[in-house]
Amino acid sequence: MGGYFDYNATTPLRPSAKSAIMEGMDRYWENPSSPYLSSARAKNALDTARESLSGLLGTRPESVVFTGGATEANNSVIEYVSRQSGQNRVLLLSPFEHPSVVDAARHFWGDRLRFMRSQKNGAIDLEDFHRQMKSNSIGAVSVMAVNNETGVIQPVSEVAKACADSGVSFHCDASQWFGKLSGSLIPQCDFLVGCGHKFGGPKGSGFIALSGRSEGFRSQFGGGQERGRRGGTENIPSILGMVEAFSTAEQKLSDFASQATFRDQFEADLSNHIPKTIFIGKTGTRVANTSYLLLPGYENIRWVRKLDLKGFQVSTGSACSTGKTSSSPVLTALGFAPDAGRSSVRVSSWADTAEQDWEKLSRAFEEVWADLQNTDDGGMTEVVSL
Ligand code: PLP
Repeated sequence: MGGYFDYNATTPLRPSAKSAIMEGMDRYWENPSSPYLSSARAKNALDTARESLSGLLGTRPESVVFTGGATEANNSVIEYVSRQSGQNRVLLLSPFEHPSVVDAARHFWGDRLRFMRSQKNGAIDLEDFHRQMKSNSIGAVSVMAVNNETGVIQPVSEVAKACADSGVSFHCDASQWFGKLSGSLIPQCDFLVGCGHKFGGPKGSGFIALSGRSEGFRSQFGGGQERGRRGGTENIPSILGMVEAFSTAEQKLSDFASQATFRDQFEADLSNHIPKTIFIGKTGTRVANTSYLLLPGYENIRWVRKLDLKGFQVSTGSACSTGKTSSSPVLTALGFAPDAGRSSVRVSSWADTAEQDWEKLSRAFEEVWADLQNTDDGGMTEVVSL
């Protein structure tokens, strides 16, 4: 996996998670809600996974709702808080939430949305947040724990406290926190969302951890599973795999933290060899594995394709998921020109990425830069940062 640098998009399944999934398929295939002994064993495996996860999160087992990923979790929370809050309330969001939050918010809240301002360092502007909280029309708040593009850690403890003090529901999409930072350090939120495939678990796995105040939460109806909060037969193999991956990731957090040294050296190499490269969020507090670049001169997709041909997988940022190479809400929120998204490239590693892999990656960037300059097509006009 030496050339793979897109771990914020997804991670490979950890061997320990794969074994847990296989065990779940072989041994716990019965319906955990059935009334006989073998299904009680399946139910027991599910309960044990729930206890392990809640232990790692420092919460109670009853607070955990397993879901089919973070998109589902975010959608159902955003819908639930819209129903709870009433028509005259608004949703206050960070300006760089994942589409699974923003698009759901537009759908369920319509124009009852208010966005916080961002600081230049990629974190939300707390002064602006507190100012907006003073208006008594806020029905719920949504701030992600770590931004998926910049890797900037958001001040969620302060947001959680302000929301608790004002009795406003707080939803935190922590998909990019778990596996990078300890689950025990995340503050208590009313709706805390995690995503299995970001920390070596299977795709289509995720969870919501509720607080005492949000325990009335309901999403899917039609079964009493998950204490009636999400009907539907539980996907036990996937849940076992996700919890096992979470636990393994927690054991590797100090290796993960060492990525910051390699990432910083990579950025230093790039700024020496590729003039005018901008490192987004570098002045903020970032998770150790992420570097979000604005590269000079050439459309990002050309950098990405050339790097791919050399055996390195990086992304253009989250906009690539829809095939777009322009317009990133993250960059717009940070004050960059509307076309800045045409030059953004995101690099993200994980705990096992070696220093030599980073060194090879920076050499590949330098070679691509030389290749692009030798291609006589005029490139593109420079992106101006405001
Ligand atoms: N939230 C964030 C911050 C993410 O980075 C992602 C993954 O891209 C998601 C939500 C969506 O997660 P899932 O793929 O489990 O639906």
